[in-house]
Amino acid sequence: MEQQLRQRGVTDARVLDAMRTVPRERFVPADLVVRAYEDGPLPIGCGQTISQPYIVAHMTEVLDVSPTHKVLEIGTGSGYQAAVLGELVREVYSVEIVPELARRAEATLRGLGRTNIHIRIADGYAGWLDQAPFDRIIVTAAPEAVPQPLVEQLAPGGRLVIPIGSQGETQWMTIVDKTDEGVAQSRTIPVSFVPFTRAQSR
Ligand code: SAH
Repeated sequence: MEQQLRQRGVTDARVLDAMRTVPRERFVPADLVVRAYEDGPLPIGCGQTISQPYIVAHMTEVLDVSPTHKVLEIGTGSGYQAAVLGELVREVYSVEIVPELARRAEATLRGLGRTNIHIRIADGYAGWLDQAPFDRIIVTAAPEAVPQPLVEQLAPGGRLVIPIGSQGETQWMTIVDKTDEGVAQSRTIPVSFVPFTRAQSR
C-alpha cells in the first residue's frame, strides 16, 4: 500500500480501502499465489495478464467513481479490476472476449460472493448496449483509438478511462469526459497494456 500505491500518488482512501479488501491472491493462478502482491503484472493464461496493483489503483482513482454508479469494464481478464470496482459502485458490467477467462473470472467472483458484477463473453468494441448508458467506462486492453460505441454509451457527465496506443510504442492512459459541450480528452501516465483484440467478423 505504502510503497506501491501511496508513494506513487494514489491517495483516495476509498480506493486504498477497496485494494485492501479484495484478495488479489484469489485472482492469480495457483502457482503464482506467492507472487500475487508483486509490483507488476502476472500471467493469467491465454496470453493475458492481471494488471500491476498500481495500475489498477491509478485507473480506479482517475475513474472517479461514486456508490451510485453503473460501470462498464472492457477486458475482464482475471476479474480483479472488476472486483475492486464492485467494492465502490452499485453495478459492474464487464465484457471479456476470451471465453475461458470470462468463465474463470465468473467462478472466482461467485466464490467471493460478489453479486453486483455481471460478465458477458463478447467483443467489447461494441460495449454493452442493453445496459447503456454507463456513468463510467474502464478499458483494460489497449486499442489504437477510442472505440466510438463506448463514447456513445457514456452518460452525460460520464468518464471513460482507456489506455491508447500501438503495441511496442508508448501507450497513454487516456481520460475521455463527456459533457454537454462535447467530449474532452486528456492523458495521465505512460502504460503498457495487452492489445485490444477484435472478433473475427470484422
Ligand atoms: N482487468 C483485467 C486485466 C485485463 S488484461 C484484470 O483485472 O485481470 C486484458 C483483457 O482484455 C484480456 O483478458 C483480454 O482477453 C481482454 N480483451 C482484449 N480485447 C478485448 C475486446 N475487444 N473485448 C473484450 N475483452 C478484450
